[in-house]
Amino acid sequence: MARAPHRLWAACVLATWLTSPSTAVANGNVSHQWVTRTAAAQTPQGGSLYALVNDEALVGARDTGTRFPDWGYTPGATSDERTAGESAHWEPVQEGYRQFILANYAPPWSDEARLHLAFYLGMSAHGMGDQTYDSMFFERSKFYEPGNHDLFDQDTDVMWAATAGPGDVPPPWIPVAPLLELFDAVAGVSIDGTSMTNEVGVVGIAMGLVNAIAAQPKQVAAAEANFPWAAAHDHDATTPGNPGLAAEVVRRYWRSNWALLHGDPIPRPVLWTHPADGAALHPTDAASIESWISIVFARGLAASELSAAQFHVVDTNGVELPIAVQLFYGDESHVVHLKPGGDLLADETYVVTVDPGTQTIHDEALQGWSFTFSTGKRAPSPINDDSFWDEPDPYGEDPAGGTTGGTTGRTTGEPAPLDESGAGDSDANGSSTGASAMGTGDAMAEPQGQSSGGCGCRNTGGGRGALTLFVLLAVATSRSRKRAASASVEGRAS
Ligand SMILES: [Zn+2]
Repeated sequence: MARAPHRLWAACVLATWLTSPSTAVANGNVSHQWVTRTAAAQTPQGGSLYALVNDEALVGARDTGTRFPDWGYTPGATSDERTAGESAHWEPVQEGYRQFILANYAPPWSDEARLHLAFYLGMSAHGMGDQTYDSMFFERSKFYEPGNHDLFDQDTDVMWAATAGPGDVPPPWIPVAPLLELFDAVAGVSIDGTSMTNEVGVVGIAMGLVNAIAAQPKQVAAAEANFPWAAAHDHDATTPGNPGLAAEVVRRYWRSNWALLHGDPIPRPVLWTHPADGAALHPTDAASIESWISIVFARGLAASELSAAQFHVVDTNGVELPIAVQLFYGDESHVVHLKPGGDLLADETYVVTVDPGTQTIHDEALQGWSFTFSTGKRAPSPINDDSFWDEPDPYGEDPAGGTTGGTTGRTTGEPAPLDESGAGDSDANGSSTGASAMGTGDAMAEPQGQSSGGCGCRNTGGGRGALTLFVLLAVATSRSRKRAASASVEGRAS
């Protein structure tokens, strides 16, 4: 999806690059938006979370949050901006933003608070979507179709736009001031809000370019030819990590963080596993990526505290399968792969156990977790009741009275002064933290050339200067660092 390298090529002279076979346009933000929108649609109805993520008045904030983390990878971004953008992918910044919301608002959420919540959930969907996609779908693509994957993000986004529909860019809403504070406090970089806002606009432009490419059958065919396995499996409900499965993980992550926002502990330490609890026919060949067991944790894990000895894959005779343990993106990340060190037994049932005490980056010790699967045709009884994830959250209908699509008739809570935390005051960066603007309003950053389709190229304005013809060059990103930092905690004696 939107992992590095974010090679974005763009030109306003669409005809030029559409006819050039060597260029490609994309990043994963059409896919990201689809994941967010699908997660919203699949959130159980009847709860306050469903009401919020499906509130049409909040779509701009939710979808801007979803594409926001890639702003630092736009062409011309400074290294500090890349650092900040990268940090927005991860839980320390997202957790800081959640704390900002809690420090300034409380249920019943005001209109202003709901904008922040929608942006927060969108931003978290991007980060979790990337982790899920990269750790499982992208890894499988590399396994099945090895070779140069530099164009993978772009090509798969084009394929997705072609088959699932184009993305669009609703009017942006960006809480500039608290984000700048977070980047300063968490990532240690001082960011110019106007530049950031403009670059968020460029991400929206890139989405329009992907839409345009996806409307060209030859371009879609070329993308599919580059990655035929991905093309054949991006809509496959049994292939972990593709957008459909990412949406499932995201909606569970939202539910988990929704509990935190209401002062409750996370409901479960683990959001999702592959194989699923109670699954059958798990492949036995240790040489195949399909034998991997993948666990998505609800919280960012502390790599230095993670031990292979915390994980057990045990057969019906009590024999432990030797495994290598990989925390896919290293510190702060959520996906752990258990890679069998030898073939699994045929027609056998296994129980996977995560010992209690897994340490998060938030100084939490997670509860233990177990699930079961078989390598034969007979599916074991699941250990957990995953219908939990299909129940509406217990926080009631939207306490502010909001229903999907409504922008009026909602009472607003007494808005807490944003400057209580020192993080919310509007400033000369053209920023604002909301001021109850819904849909369009003073609080929103100026749209920067967004288009619901087509090139959408315009002067991006601001400090970037006039761009009548621009090329978004490949940007090697610190995402590579994250990938390189994948932590393996191998060495289980068993
Ligand atoms: Zn990204």
